[in-house]
Amino acid sequence: MEPIEQIRSAQKLPPQIRLTPGEAEWFDRTASGPLVRVPNLPFAVTPYYIDLAGDSPADPVRRQCVPTAGEWDIRPGEEADPLYEQRYSPLPRLIHRYANRVLVLTTDQCPVYCRHCFRRYFTGGGARGNSNPGGSITAAEMKEIAAYVRNRREIREILFSGGDPLMLSDRKLLRTMELARKTGDDTVLRLCTRAPVTWPQRITPELAEGLAQLRPLWTVTQYNHPKELTAESRSAAETLISAGIPVANQTVLLRGINDDPDVLARLFHDLLTLGIKPYYLFQGDLAPGTSQFRVSLDKAFAIVERLQNLLSGLSMPQFAVDLPGGGGKVRLSRESVEFFSDGRYHIRSMEGELFSYPEED
Ligand SMILES: *Cc1c(COP(=O)(O)O)cnc(C)c1O
Ligand code: SF4
Repeated sequence: MEPIEQIRSAQKLPPQIRLTPGEAEWFDRTASGPLVRVPNLPFAVTPYYIDLAGDSPADPVRRQCVPTAGEWDIRPGEEADPLYEQRYSPLPRLIHRYANRVLVLTTDQCPVYCRHCFRRYFTGGGARGNSNPGGSITAAEMKEIAAYVRNRREIREILFSGGDPLMLSDRKLLRTMELARKTGDDTVLRLCTRAPVTWPQRITPELAEGLAQLRPLWTVTQYNHPKELTAESRSAAETLISAGIPVANQTVLLRGINDDPDVLARLFHDLLTLGIKPYYLFQGDLAPGTSQFRVSLDKAFAIVERLQNLLSGLSMPQFAVDLPGGGGKVRLSRESVEFFSDGRYHIRSMEGELFSYPEED
C-alpha cells in the first residue's frame, strides 16, 4: 500500500481550481484562527479526486470536496450530531442503534472530507464535547467491542465505519476485523468506505485477498455521481468483486450535484453493470452547514417516482432518511408521510414513534 497523498491547503490546489469568493472565504477564515462556529470539518482531498473536479465551481466532484463559506450557514434544526449517535454509544467507538447490528468508528480520518458529511461531530477531529475519541481504534478498544458483541447473540452484523476505515494500514485494518470475526463465523462484517471513489489506488489485490479471508464480508461505498466511475475506480471495484467480496452502494441525494433523475438513473445502471448493488439513496441529514446540499423532500419524492419508471428493481436503491432526533432509518415515500404541518413532514419511525423532517425553504 502506497502512503496517502493529500492536499490540505488552498495553496496546494492544482491551478485549474480557481477559487470562487465563497470558497476562498472558507480557506481564509479557517487559516486565520479558530472558528466560533464549530464543528468545522477540515479540508483534505486526494490528487486523484481533485483532478476529477473540473474548473467549474458547479462541478459535481468539486462541490463535494471544495468547501465554501456556506458551511457556516447553520439553519434552525441543524444539530452537531443529528442522528443522536452519541446517545446510542455504549462503549467508546461503538454505536448500537439497532438491535441486530452495530457500527464501529474505526478512525476519524478520511482520504477526502465530503462537504456533506453528517458525522462531522466526529470526522476529521470532530467538535468540542464529542464523546468519542479521535484518532484510530486500538486493539484494546476492539477487543472490548468484540466482547460486547459476543455477549449479545442478537447482533448479527458489525459495520466498520468512521471516518474511513481504509485510512488504517492493511495490517491494522485486517487485525481489527479479525477480532470482530472471532465473534462468530456467521457474523457479517461490513466495510463502509469511500476509498473506491476518492482513493481507488488504495484497493490493491493484496488488500482484497486479506479481506476475502474474513468473509462473510460486504463492502459498502458511496458513489454520488456517474463521473466518479472512472477507469481507476471501476478497477478498484473489480478488484474487490473478483476476490469474492460483494459491493453495495449508498448515494446521498445532493442539491445541484445529483438531484436529477437522469443522472441518478445513469449512476445506478452503471453501478449495476459493474456488479455493484445500489442499496440506499439517502435524503440529507440535518448536519450543521449542509443546507446547501439538501433537496426539498417534495422534489426528492418526484425524483424517486421518476426513477421507479426509469430503473429495474435490481438497479433501484431504497429511498431512506435517518429521522432527525434519533428516530433511526426509515424507508420513505409520499405514502409514509402521516401528515404535513408547519413546514414539516411527520413520519413514523420503525419503533412506531412520530418524528418530523422539515421542508427546505
Ligand atoms: C445505517 C446504520 C446501520 C446499518 O443499517 P442498514 O439499514 O442495515 O444499512 C447500523 N448502525 C447505525 C448506527 C447506522 O446508522
Ligand atoms: S468519507 Fe464518509 S465519513 Fe468521511 S467525510 Fe465522507 S461521508 Fe464523512
